[in-house]
Amino acid sequence: LSRLDSNIRRLEAQRACLNLVAERLRHLQGPVIELGLGNGRTYDHLRELLPDREIFVFDRQVGAHPDCVPDSEHLLLGEIRDTLPGLLERMPGKAALAHSDLGTADAVVNGVLAAWLAEALPPLLLEGAWVVSDRSLRSASLRAQPLPPGITPDRYFIYRHELK
Ligand code: SAM
Repeated sequence: LSRLDSNIRRLEAQRACLNLVAERLRHLQGPVIELGLGNGRTYDHLRELLPDREIFVFDRQVGAHPDCVPDSEHLLLGEIRDTLPGLLERMPGKAALAHSDLGTADAVVNGVLAAWLAEALPPLLLEGAWVVSDRSLRSASLRAQPLPPGITPDRYFIYRHELK
């Protein structure tokens, strides 16, 4: 598989997972957390899918298309280990959905960040909230969910936050 094919499949998986979860969380009120603004493609898709939700977006810096930059109340810039833990004070309540696409080309960095995120994310989520992630997240309260039809396992991940 060329890098182009692999990237296209990753983005198709990301879109399919977000579309599926957007349907499933219709009855769960709460804001959305978007980890990794990048050039803003996924943020733009999320605000189209979930137009009535507040979306809180994280990145080290703004590198997005000007049309896809959140307002300052919803954009948290800096290292995520510093910015994510304070989010509860800013959100109107716990989140119904978190999407994480923080991956870099460095597998070691990605693994360390995913391990940290698996601990840091659950306290920000409602019971029954959904998590869509580019990396596997190992946490006792994040239960793996089936992927949309046609999506290869491990290309993207869906979890539900369940405390019991
Ligand atoms: N989903 C985005 C889009 O549609 O354009 C792409 C996200 S890109 C793959 C990953 C982003 O995560 C980069 O913009 C990078 O700056 C950010 N990022 C990675 N690690 C981070 C960290 N530890 N703290 C803050 N931002 C981070």
